[in-house]
Amino acid sequence: MSSLDFGKKRFGATVRDWNDWRWQVRHAFRTRADLECLFPLSPEEAAAFDGRPLRLPVAITPYYASLLNPASPLRRIVVPTAAETRRGAGEYDDPLGEEKHRPVPCLVHTYPDRALFLVTGVCPAYCRYCTRARLAGRGAGLSSRANWRRALSYLREHAEIRDVVISGGEPLLLPDEKLEWLLWELRHIPHLELLRISTRVPAVLPQRVTPALARLFGKCQPLWVSVHFAHPDELTPEAARACARLAEAGVPMGSQTVLLRGINDSPDTIRRLMRGLLRMRVKPYYLHQCDAVVGSAAFRASVQDGINILRALHGHTSGYAVPLYMIDAPGGGGKVPLSPDYILGRKNGTLLLENYRGQRFRYRLADGDPFARGRRRKGPGAGLLA
Ligand SMILES: *Cc1c(COP(=O)(O)O)cnc(C)c1O
Repeated sequence: MSSLDFGKKRFGATVRDWNDWRWQVRHAFRTRADLECLFPLSPEEAAAFDGRPLRLPVAITPYYASLLNPASPLRRIVVPTAAETRRGAGEYDDPLGEEKHRPVPCLVHTYPDRALFLVTGVCPAYCRYCTRARLAGRGAGLSSRANWRRALSYLREHAEIRDVVISGGEPLLLPDEKLEWLLWELRHIPHLELLRISTRVPAVLPQRVTPALARLFGKCQPLWVSVHFAHPDELTPEAARACARLAEAGVPMGSQTVLLRGINDSPDTIRRLMRGLLRMRVKPYYLHQCDAVVGSAAFRASVQDGINILRALHGHTSGYAVPLYMIDAPGGGGKVPLSPDYILGRKNGTLLLENYRGQRFRYRLADGDPFARGRRRKGPGAGLLA
């Protein structure tokens, strides 16, 4: 069944309804009864509605619901379970320590030259592993003009910030006029050389990428769009069309994917996703280790699997298809890249390297290259690590 057929059958939707993003938002599945119309809930899913209140609202656009079936790997991404209400060891409401780097309500300023602008807390579909569940669904404060103005003043006063990531919540739930106003204000801050928008719309609400929106982004260059895709099943003709509109408007795109246990944590799934994104002209940017947010234990893949996946990509497929694998350090340490180790040893000014096939090679370093001595830690008491 095509997704439009699903819409006709379930809602009596016309083509025009189905392609209207506001119609999609209005008809989102939000309650237990809504979900029960999709398929019978498992005991663990039903229990999500019986016990402690959910930390994160439920919403699934009709479009995304049309991609679900009882066995779909996408089901756990959007359908809550009771597990998400349980706080596991080492889990936090604010795993990245963003609250202590929030000089004004809408801004997280962790890195010296870039800032995260949270423009809304609302999403058209809530991912159950959301790192910002503490803000999600409580959008009013974040999207008020007064708070935006405070954020803009902060950005004007901090000339060291050259890159602003517009995120949320889902920034593209804002109407075009509000986005245009905001992008224009940001464009007029001379030290902001780069704007970025982080969005999951191409995956969950591709109808939002209208020709007008693509034109607006095309006018605001350099503006990069970071799209969050979780699984190759999300790479539908609709998603491809949304990305094509952006690409054709001259908007460069990168992707972000959270590594999710039992959903996408296999080399084959990630390879298919990354290759599919490249075909849609999206450069795979980050593969994120799932943050330790409350209730996320069931989603966190093993770091060993993450490293193995990177090993299965590098050298085996286009280098453009290989993202960086990142752990966001708890408490606001920032993102740390993890990589398989291809340096097996160092001896007599040479490196022993391993290629993607496991073959070994000696590479002679230039005389005096400090790299021959291994990694030297700065600071008192630090010694050689490798
Ligand atoms: C991820 C992030 C950024 C952007 O980081 P890049 O590595 O440049 O993509 C900026 N601010 C915060 C708080 C972040 O978490």
